[in-house]
Amino acid sequence: MTTRTTCPYCGVGCGILAANQDDGSVAISGDPDHPANFGRLCSKGAALGETTDLEGRLLAPLIDRRTASWDQAISAVADGFGEAIDRYGPDSVAFYVSGQLLTEDYYVANKLMKGYIGTANIDTNSRLCMASSVAGHKRAFGTDTVPGTYEDLDEADLVVLVGSNLAWCHPVLHQRLLAARAARGTRIVNIDPRRTATGETADLHLALAPGSDTALFGGLLSRIRARGAEDRSWIAAHVKGADAAFDAACGLDEAARITGIDPSDLASFYDLWIDTPRVVTVYSQGVNQARDGTDKVNAILNCHLATGRIGTAGCGPFSVTGQPNAMGGREVGGLANMLASHLSLEVAAHREMVQDFWRAPRMAERPGLKAVELFDACADGRIKALWIMCTNPAVSLPNADHVADAIRACPFVVVSDIMAKTDTTVLADILLPATGWGEKDGTVTNSERRISRQRRFLPVPGEARDDWRIICDVARGMGFDGFDYTSPAEVFDEYAHLSTAARDLGVDLDLSGLVGLSADAYAALAPVQWPVRPGQTGDRFFGDGQFFTADGRARMLPISLTESENQTSAAHPYVLNSGRVRDHWHTMTRTSKSPTLSQHIAEPYVEIHPQDAAAQAIEDADLVTVQSPRGHLIARARICDRTAPGQVFVPMHWTACWTAKGRVNAAVAPVIDPVSGQPELKRSPVRISPFQPAWYGFAISRAEPQPDCAYWAKARVPGGWRVELAGTGPMDDWESYAQNTLNLEGRAITAIDTARGTARLVFSDDKGLEGAFFVAPEPVVAARSFLAAALATGATPAGIIAGVPSLNQPDPGPTVCACFNVGLNTIRAAVSDRRALSVEAIGALLHAGTNCGSCRPELQAIVDAATLPLAAE
Ligand code: SF4
Repeated sequence: MTTRTTCPYCGVGCGILAANQDDGSVAISGDPDHPANFGRLCSKGAALGETTDLEGRLLAPLIDRRTASWDQAISAVADGFGEAIDRYGPDSVAFYVSGQLLTEDYYVANKLMKGYIGTANIDTNSRLCMASSVAGHKRAFGTDTVPGTYEDLDEADLVVLVGSNLAWCHPVLHQRLLAARAARGTRIVNIDPRRTATGETADLHLALAPGSDTALFGGLLSRIRARGAEDRSWIAAHVKGADAAFDAACGLDEAARITGIDPSDLASFYDLWIDTPRVVTVYSQGVNQARDGTDKVNAILNCHLATGRIGTAGCGPFSVTGQPNAMGGREVGGLANMLASHLSLEVAAHREMVQDFWRAPRMAERPGLKAVELFDACADGRIKALWIMCTNPAVSLPNADHVADAIRACPFVVVSDIMAKTDTTVLADILLPATGWGEKDGTVTNSERRISRQRRFLPVPGEARDDWRIICDVARGMGFDGFDYTSPAEVFDEYAHLSTAARDLGVDLDLSGLVGLSADAYAALAPVQWPVRPGQTGDRFFGDGQFFTADGRARMLPISLTESENQTSAAHPYVLNSGRVRDHWHTMTRTSKSPTLSQHIAEPYVEIHPQDAAAQAIEDADLVTVQSPRGHLIARARICDRTAPGQVFVPMHWTACWTAKGRVNAAVAPVIDPVSGQPELKRSPVRISPFQPAWYGFAISRAEPQPDCAYWAKARVPGGWRVELAGTGPMDDWESYAQNTLNLEGRAITAIDTARGTARLVFSDDKGLEGAFFVAPEPVVAARSFLAAALATGATPAGIIAGVPSLNQPDPGPTVCACFNVGLNTIRAAVSDRRALSVEAIGALLHAGTNCGSCRPELQAIVDAATLPLAAE
């Protein structure tokens, strides 16, 4: 059976065909008919079939770590929340939810909290992702309207990617953009302090100083006026506040000073932007995750409003969301300061309408606590009962150690999740097993307002339940009517009805064309872009110059300049940036299950410029301590010039389940944007220093290792695990250590040199190789990809004891192409012996880059690195 569904990872929202196989596995392919991806998938989507097993799943309710029935668990949650509300009032309880929830889950969670419990203390991890875009849209347009569509990327002549590593974070959109460039010569500009895979494929990369985006776009606004390029008749008819915005904008020289970009480069970019009417400005977390994220958004919107470049094909501002259903959550009021259907909590008429519609007994009357504030309120005792759904705040929020302590301090903590052990589930009093991707049914909305169905194609495991049902069960347990849904289709229908009523209050969201869908019609619902009116879908917003403010005009805002002050000091002289890697998703609960995805980058790392590395006596592959006033992490040094001097970069994904001390947000300060409440995750002051262990280790193991040393990071490999280790204490019995903590069993052959401090141990039994352990006083030199494959390839102990392949055994090197498992060494060899001197030729020879295309920027970098010296020969 093949089921049409939607990818659960990023906001591109790709359509997927999931085909159940006779052996219980699922074959994944892109849906050729889905307008988000037309059949294309990135490496993460393509590997989804490796993530649907039940290993590590939470399959029954647990109360105080003991298995309970659902009746017991629902009663305990209802009683826990009910008692807190009775004793301390509605504001003493909170929900923290997730962009991983389906829209129907989100809808009932909001209805329960805002309409029945009577507080708006429900916030979502989307606060960390795009709350600044929401706030910026509302300030400029009157509602949270995303005017962009993916087709605009096909039709633009210039696409500016701001604070967006599209190549790794939204790979299918990036491939679409590169295809548009090949077809019509689209120019691509990337604005980012780091030179990422996106910057490497752009026509121009502007490495601005961290946090200086408002100056960069202020400078553009000034240049628009200086060149007389503003659209005066458009402004006169459709915009308010233009003069004040123009007056506040800085000139070129000041923009150049603040951004650190050469004035002539800046002027060239400004003129390119001004001279290209079809320009799309795409922005993402690099804009949103900032203390002035909302101002950054409005600085971008100002330029499009000043030139009337909005509402027509191939131009406009375009916020691209991180999560699969960040948009759906926004639509049903997932943020603590919003109501369902894009209505405003602060507007009495909106509250009254929703209260009547829901027949709600106790309506929230003011915005609730936003994410960072919410956990502060747990820490200081204001929140007595907390329910975390489908997210991992002990990892993902800034000041993460404080957040974990705050959850611990809360008297009553409920967590719904699909996994039994995460950094957050271990802090819960009650654990509720939720259904995961492939097991649940509902809708999600992608970055271009397209609603798609996620459909069930796997049996529901154990006692797991859908989130919407768990929430409704608890609501009924608390004595509330209004939660008697029997399916997500019924929830969706109520939401569509509400959106129709909301439309009449003048908001943008309109699902009137989806009201009254039968169960069959809901089951068969094809991807559809809102607004959806009867017989009419996907109208372009703002083409008529009408906005959703009281007077119908958009607002340009005067944006005060933010100097690129980065809070560094003599004690903490570096700026810590964070972000995603290509093949992992969020806190790795799903992607870490995939050996394919785990081979691209297998441990947390810190990117350091060579100049800074030299100053701190750090060498490539050393372990590095990154220390801020809030906390620290330990990660592997990657010395490269992608990150500018004075800055370091650490990926966001690693948790305490996967590494000893690699949670980047432990070192990130909880600085928030005062307008949006979004935390600044990309600009924390830190110092870096070599972490100096007594020994380093690398191991492969058929059984899951349980290391207990100062540094470790484990990852899946085919047939088992790999783990990097480092310890500070002396060790005299490596064999016992390997047996006791790495779970290496069987006969050992060993090569131990006590004088040099090196050891090589390989374990096997009658069934074959069990694992191997390599130790050295410096970072272990071993062919990791060769060893990582050894458990699955039937290697012999004698064949791997050296840690490197023999001459007749090639070492593919770290995975570059996840789809075809092609390694760096293989690709370099093909380029250096001139069998393949282009990305296309590599594809023809090795297949690398010919499926999802996510690795094509890396292939280009390998070609460039090898062919530049060849060209000089
Ligand atoms: Fe999933 Fe990749 Fe598509 Fe994002 S780009 S929705 S992660 S397949």
